[in-house]
Amino acid sequence: MNNGVSGPKPADLLPASILGLLGARGPLTRAELASAPRVSSATITGAAKGLMARGMVVEVGQLASGGGRPARPLSLASTAGRMVGVEVTASHLAVVAAKFDGEVPVLVENDINALAVAEQVYGAGVKYSTYLIVTIGRGIGCGIVIGGEVFRGSGGGAGEIGHFPLQEDGPPCPYGHSGCLESLIGTAGLVCRAVEMGLLESPGAEEPRTRA
Ligand SMILES: [Zn+2]
Repeated sequence: MNNGVSGPKPADLLPASILGLLGARGPLTRAELASAPRVSSATITGAAKGLMARGMVVEVGQLASGGGRPARPLSLASTAGRMVGVEVTASHLAVVAAKFDGEVPVLVENDINALAVAEQVYGAGVKYSTYLIVTIGRGIGCGIVIGGEVFRGSGGGAGEIGHFPLQEDGPPCPYGHSGCLESLIGTAGLVCRAVEMGLLESPGAEEPRTRA
């Protein structure tokens, strides 16, 4: 008994199947497309016509034939749409955009520059075209926006202010500098100072757990 739930019919899946085959194998003729999902050429021709009308598939070139109508291979239309993947990590943002025909641009931006752009679009930066944004945490970072554009410098490290030397005989940072900005006001540096001043217990001074 049908309890009211109906799945997609095979004919509904055909356009997706055609797009999948063209994406995986490149341009194919209607006859080649018909052989893969084992449907009639007429069915493929009808489904392909619908996809062409929606601008998702185009005809490319013409194959020589030994008689009859020459076959015209079909291909995905590069302008039909884009697929976008975004990866957000603690240190960077990566965006991959792919056109239907496989052309793939990739953008990787460090966390602070991504934040500078986010502020420009949604936050405090909306009102300003030139500003700095400074983050203080485990590391120290600075995003620089000048005239509405993120300024990265020639090597991409224009905002890398965390290891700027400030105090010659200051505490060491994990990279071996003495008294750099991060060693003084980064999270680890601040915790260290607080422990020295007796404001915090040393994070490593917990009571040892009782062994079972
Ligand atoms: Zn340092």
